[in-house]
Amino acid sequence: MGIPLIQKARIGAYVGRKRFGSNGNRRFPLVLMLEPLFHCNLRCKGCGKIAYPKEILEKRMSPSECMAAVEECGAPVVSIAGGEPLMHRQLPEIVRGFAHRKKFVYLCTNALLVQKRIHEFEPSPYLTFNVHLDALDDRHDARVGRNGVFQNAISAIRLLVSKGFRVTTNTTLFKGETAETAGALFDLVTSLQVEAMTIASAFNYENAADQEHFFNRDEAITLFRAIFQKGKGKTWRFNHSSLYLDFLEGNQDYACVPWGNPTRNIFGWQKPCYLINDGYEPTYRDLMKNTEWSKYGAGRDPRCTHCMLHSGFEPTAVMDSAKNPLKALRVYLRRNRP
Ligand code: SF4
Repeated sequence: MGIPLIQKARIGAYVGRKRFGSNGNRRFPLVLMLEPLFHCNLRCKGCGKIAYPKEILEKRMSPSECMAAVEECGAPVVSIAGGEPLMHRQLPEIVRGFAHRKKFVYLCTNALLVQKRIHEFEPSPYLTFNVHLDALDDRHDARVGRNGVFQNAISAIRLLVSKGFRVTTNTTLFKGETAETAGALFDLVTSLQVEAMTIASAFNYENAADQEHFFNRDEAITLFRAIFQKGKGKTWRFNHSSLYLDFLEGNQDYACVPWGNPTRNIFGWQKPCYLINDGYEPTYRDLMKNTEWSKYGAGRDPRCTHCMLHSGFEPTAVMDSAKNPLKALRVYLRRNRP
């Protein structure tokens, strides 16, 4: 089971319309990164979001603010993160609102509340539970600072799959992980019949509690190469384009396009992306108009030096695929050669 055809077709048509339509839009969003709260039931070591004071952690975006955000920017996909979205009481209403607008929702969760709240959601092609799993067993528990979280996530994935929900996983790699350990995690996840896996090398948040376990770009490329080599002949499915996976292996030289995944949270529209914060704008229009996009990316802003995150670079790869379909096909065939 892979990404449903309806999602691929809608997003393909959207990119075609934006890229080649009569308006020829140069900058357009693919995924709205929505953070309707920063509150979380864990304190993961690599997270920069949970350091906010209590009064900020108590704030929530309302369903109507969430709908206004997606209508303003028009992105076909919404990634709901945070914080832990399942701690938001009105999340089912928010998800229903997006589905009604035919938006594909990725609900990013540590899965601690899945069992308790699953009955509030309905399986739908528009809803995917994206479960956070950084490593196997105790190592995942150590990263999130609580025993039993890994096993709970595995049980939640089994439950969601058995009920007919779309499920993906989200793995952020930190120092200490190897091709062997990551490969074992991907084998396990694949055996659970999840739709696809999202992978990333951890972003170095300035205020994260753990500053010692971030890969630099060369180290990340070396690890991704070893992981993909290990995956040859396996049925691992990643939730990324072939060109983006090729970029992770250091074979494509891409610039970041942070406007591809704009971020809206309880403060407003965050400049320039969900990883770094150079202030907020009240509307999407203001975000696009008032952000100096050319200031960001490797070689321009030191905070971007080691970033290879899908939020900045997957849109570049998708645009490259749309512009150069034969190149995308060649890379796909090369990468999937047994
Ligand atoms: S390179 Fe990364 S941190 Fe810098 S703007 Fe792009 S997505 Fe944000």
